[in-house]
Amino acid sequence: MPTPSQPESPSTERTAIIGAGLAGLSCARELGRSGVPVRVFDRGRSAGGRVSTRRGQGGDQTGPLYDHGAPMIHVRNATVAQIAERWVEQHAAQWWSPITLHPDGSRSQTERVIVGTPSMSSITQALSVGLDLHNSVTVTDLSHDQQGWLLRLKHYGSTEATTERFDRVVLAMPIPQASRIIAPQDPSALSECPTISYEPTWACMMTLQVGEDLCTLPDIVDTDDGDRVVFAHRKPGHTLPAGTTALVLHANHAWSASYRDASPGEVCSILGQRALDIMQNQIGVLISRPQILDQQAHRWGLARATNPACESHWYCPDRSLGCCSDGFGGSDAESAYLSGIAMARAIVAAQAHRD
Ligand SMILES: Cc1cc2nc3c(=O)[nH]c(=O)nc-3n(C[C@H](O)[C@H](O)[C@H](O)COP(=O)(O)OP(=O)(O)OC[C@H]3O[C@@H](n4cnc5c(N)ncnc54)[C@H](O)[C@@H]3O)c2cc1C
Repeated sequence: MPTPSQPESPSTERTAIIGAGLAGLSCARELGRSGVPVRVFDRGRSAGGRVSTRRGQGGDQTGPLYDHGAPMIHVRNATVAQIAERWVEQHAAQWWSPITLHPDGSRSQTERVIVGTPSMSSITQALSVGLDLHNSVTVTDLSHDQQGWLLRLKHYGSTEATTERFDRVVLAMPIPQASRIIAPQDPSALSECPTISYEPTWACMMTLQVGEDLCTLPDIVDTDDGDRVVFAHRKPGHTLPAGTTALVLHANHAWSASYRDASPGEVCSILGQRALDIMQNQIGVLISRPQILDQQAHRWGLARATNPACESHWYCPDRSLGCCSDGFGGSDAESAYLSGIAMARAIVAAQAHRD
């Protein structure tokens, strides 16, 4: 199978994909396979977007790995299952059947999900190989004229902006983020695109010295408030010294919205205590003197789509402008991946129709 750098029928039109989350990466790979030259920009230091990993304190390569965005990918679609198998072959991921403790005290085992090894960002790293990907570059605005699209780029660490021209632009990010880039120059650019809203999530990451190995821990705990705790060290490929526990607590959307403007420090102290309460009251593990080795918080302003569109993507061939992300066809990682592929296929079809 051709890689993104081995096009089948080269095209000279240049496509910019803004956003290197799952949607942007799958779109870039699919376009590359069809011989469409693609350059991908992302403001993050690495690809991944909401599939993201942070290393906690504890030394360079020894600190805990927290998947503070999507902790896993639920795979239902055959195309995604196929690429997931490839990640497994590349040692970038493993299938996992986590045990979840539910609010009513029952436990269930999920049939299987895919998780990156040693962390979720291994998946997006695997997807980035061979792409013309530019990280730490924020696209600050976008304008269209007779020669196509002009992107204004802000490079991390530099005060000067640069510009670059493209024939086509794909905004591979939640629609509210896409609007922020394009609306100042062109308020009606996305007027035909579905309106998709997102809810926020605060993630609290914590490593505890618990003094003993807690064999009774489930892998995931769901609370009746809608919080979710994933014990990071129980995921395949994660290791921690004996007697320590690492977890990521994703707070429910209502709480996250009401603490929208809180500081990470404030959120850490509230959610850190909540995690200990969940361990004591829901799991039945009392840690008499918990020693917190590491604690961090991150706010995802646009975590999950609340009103996903039925369409898989949006593309305007007249302007060579498209949008893809989760929120098209679903509200999870799988829908983001599929949205990117659908976007790429729409571009190739429009190009073939025009030629
Ligand atoms: C806390 C949390 C838990 C989740 N849990 C699950 C789960 O259990 N299972 C599941 O399947 N899904 C889960 N998800 C959802 C999943 O992470 C997303 O659906 C998926 O990752 C979205 O991918 P995307 O490519 O559409 O968007 P994103 O990953 O958001 O990618 C958009 C990219 O665009 C970049 N960008 C934005 N603006 C600019 C700009 N101006 N210039 C340059 N770059 C820009 C961003 O840096 C980002 O990398 C979760 C998400 C969160 C936040």
